[in-house]
Amino acid sequence: MDSALKVNQGIPKPPEINPRASDILKKKPAGSREVSTYLEGIRNKDISILAQAITLIESTREEDREKARELVSACLPFSGDSIRIGITGVPGVGKSTFIETFGKHITDSGHRLAVLAIDPSSERSKGSILGDKTRMETLANDPHAFIRPSPSGGSLGGVARKTREAVLLCEAAGFDTIFIETVGVGQSETAVHSMTDFFLLLMLAGAGDGLQGIKRGIMEMSDLLVINKADGNNVEKALQAKSLYQGALHLFPPSPSGWIPTALTASSTEGTGMEKILESVTAYINLTRKNGYFEEKRAQQAIFWMRESINNHLISRFYDNPRIKKALPKMEQKVKEGQTDSFKAASELLKLL
Ligand code: GDP
Repeated sequence: MDSALKVNQGIPKPPEINPRASDILKKKPAGSREVSTYLEGIRNKDISILAQAITLIESTREEDREKARELVSACLPFSGDSIRIGITGVPGVGKSTFIETFGKHITDSGHRLAVLAIDPSSERSKGSILGDKTRMETLANDPHAFIRPSPSGGSLGGVARKTREAVLLCEAAGFDTIFIETVGVGQSETAVHSMTDFFLLLMLAGAGDGLQGIKRGIMEMSDLLVINKADGNNVEKALQAKSLYQGALHLFPPSPSGWIPTALTASSTEGTGMEKILESVTAYINLTRKNGYFEEKRAQQAIFWMRESINNHLISRFYDNPRIKKALPKMEQKVKEGQTDSFKAASELLKLL
């Protein structure tokens, strides 16, 4: 019988089943569950659902975005009840080793810890500085810890937004301590600072130029400096660096938190100094809860994120608008050829919105 599916002679027959089908079937698309199912899983501390929910908020598909927004709103009433700690330092300072050791210290004392990251390098180089799979093996196997590498792709703003939403989801899943790690070399610390309660900067003793490429601004926003690798022959030098930094911290203008930043030494490989660091974090939280700064900072951060969200929304509404998509290249050409100026062109395009 003739069939519309008849394959003519000489044309190789395509496989009847998509060779990638089994891969596709195994991998559920990001937004394949109902918002209520995600929420229930998260509230039941189901780590695998939490991980899938974070994949949903990282998705750029418009239908996933809508669901993600709903999920974040649904998680919001259950979020906020954690201590959010930003951790930064140049590559090699020992961030992942420190997070392993300090993180273990935290889970051993009965807390549940989520480790998130903001690594804007991952979009450009593909080789993420923070994404190495062999990192933090102990914590990765700790049932009281959850580790999630940095979202990749998109602008720093986009990556930061996803991490901020992941924080809310982790809190709704009962994690009471959140670490957000970033590499202390660029803009990402400011993003981390805008979503954490406490900011910890890891440094090394005697690494030359005093501030080791860490910008003054990063030091200024830190609540605690930890001189890592204070072990072996390095102990003396670490102690000297500690007093040096301690002196430098005093030169900064006083923070509205009422907290005076300090410097401590630690060895992440030997596990020394961890108790003091935890004491410092606790003292900061106690002080700022008492003087109202903790809540004030969270409120300001919430406003900041609302504005970020509006900005992002407006930007994508503009660039995704079909009329603008059509007009934009033409207008760019006009600007290029000097037929109109940048400001007039922008204003005309904006009118199309
Ligand atoms: P990151 O790039 O900041 O995440 O740094 P890593 O945690 O990967 O550490 C870089 C190197 O420093 C590794 O070889 C670690 O073993 C080593 N390291 C980290 N912390 C310490 C420490 O406290 N003492 C010593 N001696 N070495 C450390």
